[in-house]
Order: sequence, then structure tokens, then C-alpha cells
Amino acid sequence: MNEATGSGRQINSGFQVVDGSITVGGVPLARLAARVGATPFFAYDRRLISERVESLRRVLPAEIHLSYAIKANPMPAVVQHLAGLVDGFDVASAGELKTVLDTPMMRERVSFAGPGKRQYELKQALAAGVTVNVESGHELDRLAEAGRSLGVVPRVCLRINPDFDLRASGMRMGGGAKQFGIDLEEAPAVLGRCRELGVDFQGFHVYAGSQNLNAEAICQTLGQIIDLAVSLSEHATAGVRQLNMGGGFGIPYFAGNQPLDLAAVADGLAALMSRAHDRLPEARLVLELGRYFVGEAGIYVCRIVDRKVSRGQIFLVTDGGLHHHLAASGNFGQVARRNFPVAVGNRMDQPSSETVSVVGCLCTPLDLLADKVELPGTEVGDFIVIFQSGAYAMTASPKDFLSHPSPIEVLL
Ligand SMILES: *Cc1c(COP(=O)(O)O)cnc(C)c1O
Repeated sequence: MNEATGSGRQINSGFQVVDGSITVGGVPLARLAARVGATPFFAYDRRLISERVESLRRVLPAEIHLSYAIKANPMPAVVQHLAGLVDGFDVASAGELKTVLDTPMMRERVSFAGPGKRQYELKQALAAGVTVNVESGHELDRLAEAGRSLGVVPRVCLRINPDFDLRASGMRMGGGAKQFGIDLEEAPAVLGRCRELGVDFQGFHVYAGSQNLNAEAICQTLGQIIDLAVSLSEHATAGVRQLNMGGGFGIPYFAGNQPLDLAAVADGLAALMSRAHDRLPEARLVLELGRYFVGEAGIYVCRIVDRKVSRGQIFLVTDGGLHHHLAASGNFGQVARRNFPVAVGNRMDQPSSETVSVVGCLCTPLDLLADKVELPGTEVGDFIVIFQSGAYAMTASPKDFLSHPSPIEVLL
């Protein structure tokens, strides 16, 4: 038994290989496919999710609370599993709220962030008793209105658009002009408005960036976020009881990516704790992560339907494609297309012997799952496995495009 690696070999997936086959939760792919009844499917591994959360708990300062941003993977079974492991959830729609309300997570540990919240969503959040991370002054007024109509006092965090961003991020979510959060300069006025409206001010939420593999950049930003909260707290009447610092912890997707140095992040955070204690003594410090919890714990499995050679180039045509996994095709915000780690899931004991391109079954040249990768020789019916598929895969894909069936998801 050994650990499966994808093409490029640098990514150790954590999925075990038995008799040449990748296994999920101890089940080999062929048996899993028979159980699921069809390909393609997504399979998520409970053990890997649990181990990931435990590895964070082991090294992070004890005062850090962990929250899961469920948009990374909102499968109800995954969210249920994480409910027993993390300290809170972050939701971004009434639909996601419904998913977390079906778990035992305490309501006061749920926050609702995101631009463009509708009035019915604000009302559902208030009725459920979750904290709303307000994204604008107008949204604050609308939330207060919803509170009056329901006879409840809204529990509010202000999401701040900082005057810095998380450098070296795959996606920038703060700094400059953004649709997210209240510009730092406007925040003192909005804090005054919180007082006038009589809402229950809890603290701040700052989300500076995502998919970051640079421990030093992450720590620098977390330090800036603590400083920002300290300086804004001088304008607040109530003490800061919550500081959601985002996180942006990335996972390695591509050749050459080095995994995040978690020990370095933990050391950097530990060094910030005394400042947080002194200046924000009542604040619950939260890291809000998505892909870092689940991204590496999932695989996408499709099957080779046709093997063809076009002018000397080998194409493995599969029953999967970008309608299930937009990110692997390179069309989910990537600047230059790069291959996700890929393997022939039932030939893990065989050496690579040919250069192939793995494509999906859609009528567009964009439907490319792996471009010119080295894989073992294959036959129709073999399993193609794409690693790092536990986050922003199925629910971030245009599954209705070409009217193929939706993929199945399983948690083992
Ligand atoms: C998407 C999102 C996250 C999770 O991002 P990851 O890159 O998956 O960790 C966290 N917080 C907010 C506000 C988000 O929008």
C-alpha cells in the first residue's frame, strides 16, 4: 500500500493505493463505481478531511477558532461531517444557510457574508439567529429594517475592505475598489450608524485573498488585519467580540506548487497573539477557510469512452468534462491553463508510457481536462482520476451545459 500521486508526481494526494487501484475510504475504484452505479462521480474522503482539521488544531494557537466557508464544498454530508470538527460555518446565501441549519452547529457560530443579500435572505438569517457580515451601509439599513419587522436585534459584523491585499494570492478579495465589504475609510461612519440603529455590533470581518501558498504573506496580512481591527475599535461603542480574519490558505494544484508551510503560519500567528490579547481582549479570533479543509480530500472520477489518435496526438475521450469540473479545464479564473494532477486510477502500479490529452464529452475545445500529460497505456473503460477536486469543482461548474446528467457525489 502506498500513497497515490498524480502526473507531475509532486502532489501526494493522501489517497491510498491497493493492488494498483486508488481507494477511497478503503474502497477500490472499480467497486466504488459499481456501488455508485455510474461515472463520472466525485468521491470525498472523510478521513482526509478529519486529518486536515486535526493537523491545523495541532499547530495553531489555542485561541484561534476555525470556521468552514461552505461554498468550497456544500455537499450536505461534507458539511455535516465538518460540523463535528470545526467551530463555525460561513454561508453566502439562503441556500447555504439552509444546509448548515440542518447540522448541529450552534447558530451563533454561523456567519452570513457576501454581496447582494436579498431582503428574504436577511430575514431568514435573523430568524435563524446567525451573525450577518454586512457588506455596505445600505445593507446595514436594510438589515435593521428586517430586524424591526421581525422584532429581533440583528447581530452584526462589519466586513471591511482593507487598504491592503494578500500578496501572492490566486484571487484578490480585498484592497483597492471592490464589491466586497465597506471601504476602511467609510467604516467609522458606518460604526456610528450601527449605534444609531441599535444593532448588536459584534466586530469585524476582513477577507483579503484566497489560494495563497506563501506563509509569510499570510502572516503579514493577518497582522495587518489585527492592527486594522484595533484602530477601528476606537470608533466602536461596544468592544470587539469577533474578528474574522479570513485566511486564504491555499493548496498545491500545479507542478511546482509547494504546499503551504503550516508550521510557519502557526509560528507567525503565535507571534501575533499577544497584540490581539492586549488590544482586543474580548475578541474571538476566527480563521475562515474553505479549500484548505476539503480541496485535497476529493477526487473526480470519469471513464475513458474512446481513445483516438489525431495527426499523431493521442486523445483519451472521457464521459466527464468541464460541465462537472470547470476548474480542471482551466476556465475557473486561471490566467494560464495548467493541468490539475491526474492519474489512471486503476493502473497506479504501471509506469507512464505515453503522452496523451484527456478531454471531456462536450462539443468545445475548451473541454480539456489534461493537456499532454504522461500516463500509462490505457484502454476504453479505464478510470481517469483528477486530484485536488474536493473544493470549487462540482458546484462551481456549468452542469447543465449540453444537458448531460449531473455527476454523483459520495463521501466515504
Ligand atoms: C470563498 C470565501 C472563503 C473561502 O475561500 P478558500 O479559498 O476556499 O479558503 C472564505 N471567506 C470568504 C468571505 C469567501 O468568500
